[in-house]
Amino acid sequence: MRLLVVEDDKDLARQLRGALADAGYAVDLAHDGEEGHFLGDTEPYDAVILDLGLPELDGITVLQRWRQDGRNMPVLILTARDRWSDKVSGIDAGADDYLSKPFHMEEMLARVRALLRRAAGHASNELQCGPLRLDIAAAKVSLDGLAISLTALEFRLLSYLMHHQGKVISRTELVEHLYEQDFDKDSNTIEVFIGRLRRKTQADLIETVRGLGYRLAAPDTIATDDN
Ligand code: CA
Repeated sequence: MRLLVVEDDKDLARQLRGALADAGYAVDLAHDGEEGHFLGDTEPYDAVILDLGLPELDGITVLQRWRQDGRNMPVLILTARDRWSDKVSGIDAGADDYLSKPFHMEEMLARVRALLRRAAGHASNELQCGPLRLDIAAAKVSLDGLAISLTALEFRLLSYLMHHQGKVISRTELVEHLYEQDFDKDSNTIEVFIGRLRRKTQADLIETVRGLGYRLAAPDTIATDDN
């Protein structure tokens, strides 16, 4: 999962990026509204954390432009304390949730998790695919009840597949949602990571759909699809 943080307070932006990166997300930062709007307009983020008071272009305008242009990624706005009117205008402009400053990083993380799983159509923090379980809040994966250890990128990849299980995901889509903006993106590395995940999970859970990409599905689900 890849996120955008638009926040002009550089200390806060760094803290947000640190907390989100520790939780397993790829994170891009923008420090003003113009840059934030551009990134959100051109890159496929899974969710955005958007401060409202920004230089160049204010957060409400950024959000309104995205929504007018059909950008429908989940957006969590950061509002100044006690500014109830900011919350109202933010939600009216198309925000999905808000956090008042100052806030605890744990609350921010919980709200981001909720936005991501709701966007993918899941109600629970525990995703399951056959014997594979992902505990989103704890960022832990288990197979048949036994914890498996994954690198940060393997976790990010598996988490993306589990959020979108049953769907065919192209390599390009995976690259776009796993790596940060400045990363030297090479879609061939995805194959390597898929191979490692297959060894660590159960080989038949991640199916290669020739010419299209990959699909994570419990074996009986795939059988039903074919009938
Ligand atoms: Ca600000």
